[in-house]
Amino acid sequence: MTSDLAAFATKNGIKYFMISYTDLFGGQRAKLVPAQAIDDMSRDGAGFAGFATWLDLTAAHPDMMAVPDPASVIQLPWKPEVAWVASNCVMEEKPVGQAPRNVLRKLVDEAAKEGLRVKTGVEPEFFLLTPEGDKIADPYDTAEKPCYDQQAVMRRYDVIAEVCDYMLDLGWEAYQNDHEDATGQFEMNWKYDDVLPTADKHSFFKFMIKSIAEKHGLRATFMPKPFKGLTGSGCHAHISVWDLEGKTNAFADPEKELGLSDRGRNFLGGIMKHAAALAAITNPTVNSYKRINAPRTSSGATWAPNTVTWTGNNRTHMVRVPGPGRFELRLPDGAANPYLMQAVILAAGLDGIRTKADPGPRSDVDMYTQGHTVTNGTKLPLNLLDALRDYDRDETLKSMMGTDFSSAYLKLKLQEWNNFTAHFSRWEHDNTLDI
Ligand code: GLU
Ligand code: MG
Ligand code: MG
Repeated sequence: MTSDLAAFATKNGIKYFMISYTDLFGGQRAKLVPAQAIDDMSRDGAGFAGFATWLDLTAAHPDMMAVPDPASVIQLPWKPEVAWVASNCVMEEKPVGQAPRNVLRKLVDEAAKEGLRVKTGVEPEFFLLTPEGDKIADPYDTAEKPCYDQQAVMRRYDVIAEVCDYMLDLGWEAYQNDHEDATGQFEMNWKYDDVLPTADKHSFFKFMIKSIAEKHGLRATFMPKPFKGLTGSGCHAHISVWDLEGKTNAFADPEKELGLSDRGRNFLGGIMKHAAALAAITNPTVNSYKRINAPRTSSGATWAPNTVTWTGNNRTHMVRVPGPGRFELRLPDGAANPYLMQAVILAAGLDGIRTKADPGPRSDVDMYTQGHTVTNGTKLPLNLLDALRDYDRDETLKSMMGTDFSSAYLKLKLQEWNNFTAHFSRWEHDNTLDI
């Protein structure tokens, strides 16, 4: 029998499939498989040596098989003979519990059992740098407050318009692109969708922007805080929850505060309750904490939260309710794993719904100038280690994300933290040598 992917290849002139999965660090790993071999691969998956998967598997494990999900296939707009396809990780016929796409799929099923379907939009921010990655590529992009800079966005028209055209051709309903608040920083937006397709598109977007930037002699980075003194790169999530048909927004209730229904409030309550632990996933690197705990930049803001607070249409808080029926979580950063960030939001929100969690009163102050007056908001973790410890203490979140996942993630991320602390920096030398 011909698989869906083989039919896709015939119809679209595909020569190679890139069978891709996302590892625990958010890296994408793939095998290039000729279209002639796709029938077998569709059934059995492409094999990967456990040791090299970054899924906390050893050299002695059997091969991890990445089984492509035809629903996710995308023909590369810049190389139409190749198609990218996200895959589900399986070992000896069983799903690999720690594989990020499996973690998300499990939580989507759990939400469905409660009659709910979560939709999200993501807002990835990124810098365009020189190929070495140490300088902003555009030498004229030097304004102190470069947000929405018209000249600067036009100087990158080649990259931005190429990628935006591709998104439009792919039917993603791309709707805006801008220069962000740091020099060299941009954001591109496309329409929200169900969490799983959003995570697939988000992964593909990262691959696409990096590829097109490289084609133009640049380097795109999603690093959360690549430059001291400049705003970092967030990856805000706009979240709404719908009925199973996707027709009625279960978060909307015009009678309630800010148009957020009781269920919406409970979901938000779950996010607030689990925020510190959730940060271990939405802000997954050592560098992530330099974004959320940074002093205000020269532009006058960081635009990133450091306290667990929520509000109406006010960007200085962790959660913003910009309009009825949805909210924006401003915590995730560019390093967040596209699948895990959605999974942990879903896990926290579902727990909020199950336990009827209350987000507490909202705060409407300007957090940049009056944050010190907010006494009911706990601080977000100061570094990756604190966040991992918060995650480790959060038994509910750990079990909702799956014990295989949680122990693998904690193990690999603690190793990363230990590598970091074993590293000696110039700062220590400069500040300690003469003491
Ligand atoms: N770059 C900011 C951040 O790190 C967000 C700016 C915005 O509001 O879009 O989260
Ligand atoms: Mg932005
Ligand atoms: Mg935003």
